Amino acid sequence: MNEEFETVQIAFQLPIDGIFSYHVSKRFMDRLVLGSRVFAPFRNKIQAGFIVGLGPLDGQPDQLREISLVLDEKPYFNQQLWNLLCWASDYYMVPIGLALKTALPSGSDRKSKPWAILTASGRLHLSQSPAKSLPSSLNRLMKRGVVPLSEIVSETESSFIKEASKKGFIIIEQRITPPRRGLGKQYLPELLNPSENESDSGQKVTLTVAQQNAVDSLDMALEKADYQPFLLFGVTGSGKTEVYLKAIEKALSLGKRALTLVPEIALTPQTARIFLSRFGGGIALFHSKLTDAQKLDEWRRVASGSANIVIAARSGIFLPIPDLGLIIVDEEHDNSYKQEDAFPYNARDLALLRGKLENLCVILGSATPSLETFVNVKNGKINRLDLPSRPHGGPLPKTEILDLKSVFPLKHRKNFLTPNLIKAISKTLEENGQVALFLNRRGFDTLAQCSSCGTVLRCPNCDISLTHHKKSHDLRCHMCGYARTAPPTCPSCSSEKLVFSGVGTQKVEESLIELFPEVRIERLDRDSTMKRDSLDDILKRFRNKEIDILTGTQMIVKGHDFPGISLVGILCGDSSLHFPDFRASEHTFQTLVQVSGRTGRESAGGTVLLQTFDPEHYAIQLAATHDYDGFFEKDSVLRRELFYPPYGHLILIKIQGSNQKKVEEKALQIGRQSRILKKPDEPVSILGPAPSPRKKALGKHRWQIILKSQSRNSVRNLVKRLNAEGVLTAHGMSVSIDVDPVNLV
Ligand code: ADP
Ligand code: ZN
Ligand code: ZN
Repeated sequence: MNEEFETVQIAFQLPIDGIFSYHVSKRFMDRLVLGSRVFAPFRNKIQAGFIVGLGPLDGQPDQLREISLVLDEKPYFNQQLWNLLCWASDYYMVPIGLALKTALPSGSDRKSKPWAILTASGRLHLSQSPAKSLPSSLNRLMKRGVVPLSEIVSETESSFIKEASKKGFIIIEQRITPPRRGLGKQYLPELLNPSENESDSGQKVTLTVAQQNAVDSLDMALEKADYQPFLLFGVTGSGKTEVYLKAIEKALSLGKRALTLVPEIALTPQTARIFLSRFGGGIALFHSKLTDAQKLDEWRRVASGSANIVIAARSGIFLPIPDLGLIIVDEEHDNSYKQEDAFPYNARDLALLRGKLENLCVILGSATPSLETFVNVKNGKINRLDLPSRPHGGPLPKTEILDLKSVFPLKHRKNFLTPNLIKAISKTLEENGQVALFLNRRGFDTLAQCSSCGTVLRCPNCDISLTHHKKSHDLRCHMCGYARTAPPTCPSCSSEKLVFSGVGTQKVEESLIELFPEVRIERLDRDSTMKRDSLDDILKRFRNKEIDILTGTQMIVKGHDFPGISLVGILCGDSSLHFPDFRASEHTFQTLVQVSGRTGRESAGGTVLLQTFDPEHYAIQLAATHDYDGFFEKDSVLRRELFYPPYGHLILIKIQGSNQKKVEEKALQIGRQSRILKKPDEPVSILGPAPSPRKKALGKHRWQIILKSQSRNSVRNLVKRLNAEGVLTAHGMSVSIDVDPVNLV
């Protein structure tokens, strides 16, 4: 038969940079569009791949392999989304196949497995041998006719299979298991069901003048339907959510769909609930509690256009939403928008890019915008919308700074429950107010040390000190989860003088219970919320004033709205201030302003007691007065001088592996080569190589090199040259590139 062929281009979800040409029979052609999923032979397997181009590519070989099957009715992405992926792959210097893998739902990258298939003569032969003498996998083969080779593990079985296939009793063939079918129903977990006393009263609110102005500007932008980026700069509790909801309503009324990115849905169920009660059905939620199958169902619902509103964490930026008109990035300063693994993209930055590619209105919302975003506002690249006060018009909470150095006796300094704080708590409780206490360390004692020989008990995988959890009496690593029972004696010198010290949230909780035995006290951190729905339960009870004092970690900071809090105690406000990271001040400032913002929501006032060892530091001082502009001015001077972002560009090269010596050698080699390959006139600083501040993590030794420049092209070109020279690959360890890194430790 003389079939006519056409040529198509395919990309696979593999960490490779190529796009490959294939032949396709003409009669298939009308079923293929960009984004169609097909099966094609690749590297001795049949793999799912995606059509990314119709027609031949330059310089392709004459002999092309043929695609074997067209898999789905509907394409997985359109041209604009493909453009976004190509751009991201180039910008973040990751293979296009890896970008594709990240963007598409897990389960779409199916590939064939080898199967053993019983032939007719094989059946005849095997049926003559007694069933008992056959290994179990062969019995199964007799029953079913086919068995995946992966089930055949033992030596005897394997050699039997080899023999049998030589004789023609068994054929080994690459086969694909049948694809999953069916559109799932909407998955709304328990935790997102609105409870009676929490219903959304927002329908009835009258917008404040500032909210109305913001909504008017957004309405105009949405009607124009071209790229319009906004920063919704609203102080904590200013009612940003209401503005988002109005913008979404507008988008829907124009026949468009809306995507809202949030840092983590499971941590802020309240936001999702407000969306649900306002818009009812037609909402798709992507949160971390979904299984892969549920994610795939939601993904299909979104792709088919059945959901008008999508709420998702960072990976939602790649969802194929038809007729998208609006992207909202809530709490845009949050670090969780940056992915940290093999494809280290930043969803906030991609939101702006996607807006440009698809002519969308993009809203970045925050009370403490990242410096990156604020510089863009100053340069006129992003429009600024202000919500300068809270709806009730009351002042922002008043903050009192307390110098921990001046606190005596030392005992109070040690558990951070200072006499002033205890007094403030008592006063608040007398007035029937609620108290929130913030400390960014969980556990009981954060240090276990021998007082005879000085040995600190560290995680064998991560080299950080282990935290003592009193209830279970074990020592745990908060990086990798390593746990051991607390030893009675020092593992180095056998002395019995092991001392547990340092303060975690559990210790604070225990001291509080002693101090206030009559009071309802709870803790909100990763340990107290391990159980399903316990997070939601604690948040609900706190909201309903069934808890008087809530002590918590970062979890307490996330955009919760608890009207009853009248005192926020920050136990040690400078605990992350001295991290070896140029953003340490920014993170401290943001966290302090956000924590402080949990109080004073209902009416006048709200008090914050900010305890710190570093009361003069500008991040502390300016957080106490909620002075974002002041902080921006101060911090940007320092960054500009040193060409740190947003006034310069960073690329972080990370070298990680289990062999310490090899990691070090590789890092030194990359450092040397960087200095050789850097042209004399290129304004690039090469910092390192040096062991990473966290020099061991999850059992891997870590080194790093930071390339820094005021010119984005210079720093990119240097990395491209390193790559072209093959310097950035290594055996037995990983060398990864992080463009615009957020985590430098
Ligand atoms: P933000 O996200 O800016 O910190 P929220 O959106 O959580 O603030 O709003 C804070 C509180 O103000 C919420 O309880 C919300 O219902 C309420 N609120 C918002 N807009 C108004 C308004 N126009 N009038 C009265 N209350 C409002
Ligand atoms: Zn010791
Ligand atoms: Zn560890």
